[in-house]
Amino acid sequence: MKSKIEKKTQVRNALIASGISLIAALIAAALSLFVLNLGFVITFILSAIVFAAVLAVMLYLWKKTDLLREVLYLLYCIRNPEDKRTYYCPCCKRSLAGFMDMELGSQPEKYDPARFTDMKQDVMCPFCYSAPRQRILACWAEDNKELLKKSEILYFAPEYSMMKWIRRNGIKLTTADLFAPNVDLKLDITDIKLEDSSYDMIICNHVLEHVSSYNKALSEMRRVLRPGGTLVISFPIDETLGTVFEQEANTPEDRIKLFGQVDHIRVFGRDSKEIIASAGFDVDTIDVSSMPDKILPVTGPADYDSNKIFICTKN
Ligand SMILES: [Zn+2]
Repeated sequence: MKSKIEKKTQVRNALIASGISLIAALIAAALSLFVLNLGFVITFILSAIVFAAVLAVMLYLWKKTDLLREVLYLLYCIRNPEDKRTYYCPCCKRSLAGFMDMELGSQPEKYDPARFTDMKQDVMCPFCYSAPRQRILACWAEDNKELLKKSEILYFAPEYSMMKWIRRNGIKLTTADLFAPNVDLKLDITDIKLEDSSYDMIICNHVLEHVSSYNKALSEMRRVLRPGGTLVISFPIDETLGTVFEQEANTPEDRIKLFGQVDHIRVFGRDSKEIIASAGFDVDTIDVSSMPDKILPVTGPADYDSNKIFICTKN
């Protein structure tokens, strides 16, 4: 789901595109009236056409090429000279003066504000919206580029920021989701309609806390992986819990209170590695401590998210 801050920055970008279109329309109006002497009616029609055409082109380029984001980054760099930009987002490859407030704690209709106490909230990349976990994953991917390049990959619930890294590095993969539009395959992770042993790698971040049975999902992903294949997986973990916490919760309010987020139905605990291992994987753990400070690899932004990533080999 799109965060409040993502929506806000999209509105800001749309306003910038409208402003540039308005300037183009005013220039066209001035030319029409004072240079070509075309009269008010024709000038009005011409300006409206120029406004609509420039806006349409900008919105198209924004959607298809990220041009507007590049322009915004250029303005950002002018405002923040290089010595100020000590942070880095490996997903969109941009150096930053700082990260942005995710504002999750101020959305009680989606998240439990109590879970954000003492957690660092200014952790989101202002350009690709990466959170610490996606930057940690991008760092791992950077170190394992050759493996990714030669693997046939299935990516469940693809994340915009991670897809930036994947496209930039020319990695070919198949995207899948049960609900999201614009994916290659519509798949239920607990009942994957694919042949056994059909992929070398599966990437699956923050899906298991949403699905009816995490055990079925793990078993299905193992089945679809080729022998020796890799599962890259993460999900929110509360380190104060010994094991996974599940309880019947039929209302949004109950789910927010029990699991911290309106669409979560469980929170995993300290035995997450063992849970994955018992599904038939050898498991390596990557956590925030092994990551460079400049990517801001913090735990959080909520207290049920320790930002561990498990790199698992089908055994
Ligand atoms: Zn970024």
